[in-house]
Amino acid sequence: MSIVLVTGGAGYIGSHVCKALAASSHLPVTCDNLSGGKAEAVRWGPLEQGDIADTGWLASMFERHRPDAVMHLAAHADVSASVSDPSPCYATNVGGTLAVVDAARRYGNCPIVFSSTCAIYGNAPGLPVTEDTQTAPVSPYGATKLIGEHALQHYRVAYGLRSVVLRYFNAAGADPDGEAGERHATTTLAIPKAIRAALGIGPTFLLFGTDYSTPDGSAVRDYIHVVDIADAHLRALDRLLSGGDNLTLNLGGGRGISVLEMLKAVETVTGRRVPVEPQPRRAGDPSALYANVDRAAELLGWTPRSSDIRTIIASSAAWIEKTSD
Ligand code: NAD
Repeated sequence: MSIVLVTGGAGYIGSHVCKALAASSHLPVTCDNLSGGKAEAVRWGPLEQGDIADTGWLASMFERHRPDAVMHLAAHADVSASVSDPSPCYATNVGGTLAVVDAARRYGNCPIVFSSTCAIYGNAPGLPVTEDTQTAPVSPYGATKLIGEHALQHYRVAYGLRSVVLRYFNAAGADPDGEAGERHATTTLAIPKAIRAALGIGPTFLLFGTDYSTPDGSAVRDYIHVVDIADAHLRALDRLLSGGDNLTLNLGGGRGISVLEMLKAVETVTGRRVPVEPQPRRAGDPSALYANVDRAAELLGWTPRSSDIRTIIASSAAWIEKTSD
């Protein structure tokens, strides 16, 4: 059994990662300030409440729990908010990430699995996006995540700190057992918004951008089931614990789906119409982004097994129905 510090373990993806760790007989220790996450999402190991930018608190977490590895998911992950109010995004995604990376270095180079994002690619020049595609973030959020990646590369060269960087595309779906899911008071994720609109428990779906140079004019995204993300974390952990070196990997469903196609799939799965209101494009949103995931398949033996769009939507709808009043 390994002990894994999971920053952001009370959040949407982090709670699924903790469940997967526990199912593989590891102990996830959640380090989270509960700014976005929820204490009730922490069910598979202890919760330590604190801010990752607090270096003294972080050092005490390493001393108390003596982890074998870190999974660093804590972040401000709202792209739009990072444009209008970048300060908290920089504080956590840069300041907090550097604190985590430095604490891991001081604690005997404890290896790290880092949550990065497709937002580092910005408006990618060619599709699908590979890990060698030029990075050119168009939002403060993407820029801060890229700084985290650079820090990890520099710490590998200078100090020998090993890490696996996972660049997730659009996380979606919920635990098939109904034990975890997105718990944000107000979701920023497109699929839950569409499902809530269809079920009549959320506002009309705002369709940002109808004039992109895509086949149907709506933005094209790559949705990945959150359980596939959790599975990749376990594989990355195994690699690091067995001495493997740095890797940077895309994690996506490997398929571009337009927002209009996603809405149609929500209607098919729920049997309800999604009320939609077209809006202008949003700042920081690229027109089309989807992943080539061959490298994760080759180097981790990982494939997005559960990331079919209808599987994603069905699990998300079940979670929303279970958790809405
Ligand atoms: P989330 O907001 O549900 O989880 C983030 C967690 O971090 C929350 O529990 C929050 O309380 C915690 N946190 C935030 N700031 C903190 C701080 N200063 N100290 C301690 N804890 C703090 O978000 P999520 O969707 O689960 O995202 C998890 C990670 O995955 C993030 O790093 C995000 O950038 C990355 N990511 C998410 C997506 C996606 O589609 N959701 C895509 C790509 C990458």
